This record gives sequence, C-alpha cells and structure tokens, in this order.
Amino acid sequence: MTATSSHNQTDASRSDAPTQSDSPTQARGVKPLLGLSLAELTEWVQQQGQPAYRGKQLHQWIYQQGARSLADISVFSKQWRSQVAEVPIGRSQLHYRSAAPDGTVKFLLRMQDGQIIETVGIPTEKRLTVCVSSQVGCPMACDFCATGKGGFIRNLATHEIVDQVLTVQEDFGQRVSNIVFMGMGEPLLNVENVLVAVRSLNTDVGIGQRSITISTVGIPGHIRRLADQHLQATLAISLHAPNQALREQLIPSARHYPLSALLEECRDYVKQTGRRVTFEYILLGNLNDRPEHADELAQELHGFQSHVNLIPYNPIKEVDYERPTPRRIQAFVKALQDRHIAVSVRRSRGLEADAACGQLRASQIKISA
Ligand code: SAH
Repeated sequence: MTATSSHNQTDASRSDAPTQSDSPTQARGVKPLLGLSLAELTEWVQQQGQPAYRGKQLHQWIYQQGARSLADISVFSKQWRSQVAEVPIGRSQLHYRSAAPDGTVKFLLRMQDGQIIETVGIPTEKRLTVCVSSQVGCPMACDFCATGKGGFIRNLATHEIVDQVLTVQEDFGQRVSNIVFMGMGEPLLNVENVLVAVRSLNTDVGIGQRSITISTVGIPGHIRRLADQHLQATLAISLHAPNQALREQLIPSARHYPLSALLEECRDYVKQTGRRVTFEYILLGNLNDRPEHADELAQELHGFQSHVNLIPYNPIKEVDYERPTPRRIQAFVKALQDRHIAVSVRRSRGLEADAACGQLRASQIKISA
C-alpha cells in the first residue's frame, strides 16, 4: 500500500463536523441501484410491475456483468428499459488512470456531480487489493497527509464506494480479493454509508468480511458502533504515536480523544468481536522512530490482541518530514519484536505512479484547473 489519505482543519468531535451527507444524486431522490441487495432490487422491480425473477437478473447484471445503465440490460424488454431509463445504476466515469511499473494502478474517478476521488488497485501474487476512498477530501487535517491538506468536500454515497471496487475489478479483469478503506477520507465520519457498502461488497460483490479493512484515526464512540454490529471486518487504527502529546502534534483531532480512551474502545472491540486490531504507525524520521518510542509503544500495547503495521512516511510536498532509513526502520521493528509485539512493515506500492495517495488527485486537479 502506498501512503494514503487523511485530514483538514475541522475538528471531528465538534457537533458541526461533517457526518452523514448524501451525494447530490440521492438528494434529488433518484437513488442509484448500486449498493442495493438482492432483496431490495427484487422489491424495486416488483414496484415497477415486473416479476420477481427480474430482480435476480438485475443483481447479476449490476454486480457480475458490470452494466452501467439499465439500457444495457438486454434481457429486459425495450419498453421497460425506456420506462426506467432515468434510473441510474450509479457508476462513475474514469477521469485519469496511472499505472506504476510494479503493477499498481491509480484511478481518478469522476462522480456524477463532477467531484473527483482516488482509488488504487494493488496486485500481488495471490491478491488484488483495492484501496477505496470514503469521502471526497477529508476533514481530519493530519499533518503528514496529502488528502488532509486539500480540505473536506463531502461524504461518498454507498454506490460511490461500491463502484470503486467494481471499477478496479473490471480494469484488472480479475476478482478483487481484499479491500482497505485507506484512500481519501475518514470512514467513521461516514459510518452509515460505509457499513452499507461493506454489506454490499460482502454479499453482492462476494468479498469476505475478513478481507475488508476499515482504517480510522478514531472518532469517539464510533468504534463501539462497529463492535455492536459484530462486524467481522478488520479494524485498523491510525495510532502513529506512542503518547498523547506526540499524537496531538500529528493528528489535530486527537486533542478531543485521549489515547487512553481510544485504546479502551479498541479493547472493548476485541472483546466483543474476538478480532484483533491492527495499529498503524507511520514512521517519521527522527520524530517518532526512536528506540524510546518503540519502548513506549510496546508498553501501551502490552497484552493487547493486536498487530502493529509500520508505514514508512511517503513524502508529500506540503511538509518536510523525513522518511526513515531502512536501518532505522529495522531497528524499530526489532525493538518491538524484542518486546513480543507482532509487527510488520507496509511496503510502499506505486510510488512511481504519483507518490502518496491524495497527491495524484491534487496534481491532476491543478493541471485541469
Ligand atoms: N482516515 C483513515 C484512512 C486514512 S489513510 C485513517 O486515518 O486511518 C490510511 C493510512 O495512511 C493512515 O494510517 C494514514 O495515516 C496513512 N498516511 C497518510 N498519509 C501518509 C503519508 N504521507 N505517508 C505514510 N502514510 C500516510
């Protein structure tokens, strides 16, 4: 995975912080079909006076055949197709595509209202992972993150999330095996739509819940919501610092969510779901990558059913943090291992394509402006 998204000037815990807002298509009341379950599609076709089996056909055409409009569905009568021609399936338009030599492909997708989001397809020998966005921009303003520097525009609707996965699947001509919510945006600020999208990706597109990872910087009370749903997806927490002071320096919203409270919610999550939590830790040279930081981190996570995923910083032009040397990364890994903490290092993918996630969109928007 390449470095990914996050944040701008808004404070997530404020009551006026952006939460659920639907896309303009939905605001006009023309709900796209993508993201609806078999039962919902069946109900819809019946409301249109069609027999129930048309629902199954519609489901198959949307999720397997990649139909982009109802007019494409040749098994439906011409007359009915013209009657429902206005109902959108909810697919995006490809705005820009950029492939890196390692096979990673970055897509800029244009939504119906003209907004652009970034999606990444990451192939490995056995997997095809999609890094999906959950918002247009991001309000969290994490200091090291390209998306956060660009500000927040709106939440993505369910169909706009599911579309990203179908787009990558079609482009690669291969089934997607894994999904990570590590593109633009803070998924827990759009939790309603994200949860419906996870349901659809699971039961309509056929991706196992355990192969879906939701990455969050942590929004008070929201991890509990995931736990209450008994979600089997993997929860990844963007921790990035072993203490409150350093975390606040990197992540403005941490001021309103003490590390101790965040970790407490994570502990409850493990208890309730039986799933271990991943802690993401971006390694910033000479800032949070010293042996004493590893020590402090190991103490915080002692006895926690978790896994630490180290992310060497992917440089962005707006700030001048350092990417640590491989030697320093290895030293950090060893310090954690010596303290019996499960740890891995995320390999940067597609850096050649356009550096960290969020930067491709920023550079393209500048070019076209
Ligand atoms: N808002 C969610 C999803 C963000 S993207 C979250 O905060 O978890 C996924 C990961 O990429 C996060 O851990 C994020 O902090 C990290 N990231 C963002 N910018 C980065 C950069 N320049 N280099 C390395 N990792 C970065």
